[in-house]
Amino acid sequence: MRITKTLVTLALLGAASAKAQQAFYGDPPDENHPWAIHDQNRPQPPRVEPGKNGAPPSDAIVLFSGPDLEANWLSTKKEGGPAKWDVVEGNILQCKPGTGDIRSVAEFGDCQLHVEWSAPTEVKGNSQGRGNSGIFLMGMTEVQVLDNFNNPTYADGFAGSVYGVNPPMANALNKPGEFNSYDIIFRRPIFKDGKEVESGYVTVFCNGVLLQDHTPLEGGGGHKGRSKPRAFPEKGPLKLQDHGNTTRFRNMWYRPLPPRSIEGGSDGKLSPEATMAKRKEIAAGIRKDAKQLLAAENEKDGMLRLMESLLYEKDPGAMSDAIVLAEADAAVLETATPAQLEARKGEIMQVKNAFAYLIKFKILPADFAPQKTIEGIIETQGWNKKK
Ligand code: MG
Repeated sequence: MRITKTLVTLALLGAASAKAQQAFYGDPPDENHPWAIHDQNRPQPPRVEPGKNGAPPSDAIVLFSGPDLEANWLSTKKEGGPAKWDVVEGNILQCKPGTGDIRSVAEFGDCQLHVEWSAPTEVKGNSQGRGNSGIFLMGMTEVQVLDNFNNPTYADGFAGSVYGVNPPMANALNKPGEFNSYDIIFRRPIFKDGKEVESGYVTVFCNGVLLQDHTPLEGGGGHKGRSKPRAFPEKGPLKLQDHGNTTRFRNMWYRPLPPRSIEGGSDGKLSPEATMAKRKEIAAGIRKDAKQLLAAENEKDGMLRLMESLLYEKDPGAMSDAIVLAEADAAVLETATPAQLEARKGEIMQVKNAFAYLIKFKILPADFAPQKTIEGIIETQGWNKKK
């Protein structure tokens, strides 16, 4: 049923919808952006309780916290079985040389990863032979763990390098025996139909210092071999390397990241098709809200929400309903006494500003009659005069 003038009551006042009040503000959606600037319809970020004193945040998945080694880590040796590394001092995982690499039971792809590690206190060996281990993202790409505190090596194998791909931008290591924190953001490469659509990316902070800034990653890395484009599986385990040194790890956790949209390619923009699909979805949500407001006889906010929905998706039905409501309200205003108008000044100005926005962005015609009515009222009431 379409709205007709006879359905419009005079009950235009009422609790203002917060969303209706805050709309018509920033630039509207466009062909690559489904949301307006400062869009109040956009969902709020989910709450994550930050970890206190180095503890993981509330939504983190803990990979190792102490006595849980057997349940969460496996040997990567052929014979398999639980990881054979040592748990020391209650909450530290120490590589047991010769027992082989270990892998997490958990498998995951794109993530934020936190790992703390320390090189052996007793300094032995040089270059790649000193405090070497490694964090293999999805078991494929190594972020190097190495005692480079006072130990040069080839740059693309330095601590914090994406091994064999890119050196770190800094050496921000603590002394051997002291823990370092790695905070890593990992995005796997995206392949479609056997072709790389977008490279992967690795960002690494060491002790809060940026080492890798969104370093592109086409395939896995490796020793001596140049990394070549290679499809990654959806998920993989985290692997820690046994390189013959008693490197220690603690406080390891990750947060899975939402998948990247590949609709628009690597520039981060959505394609026009994906944008329009999202805009339709947003418009439907706003119209649902409008329907509820109108059912509750909050006609001003219902009308404004209907008009707002048109910024996301053109819809002749919603447009005609909104215009009927606007014209009915204008007719009410035309017969109102100056005192009644004064009492409604706030909402009249709100509607005027909304119409001005909609005219600016060509949702409403420049000569929209209800806006002319409101402008006349503002003039006769003297609201446009500076006091
Ligand atoms: Mg290594």
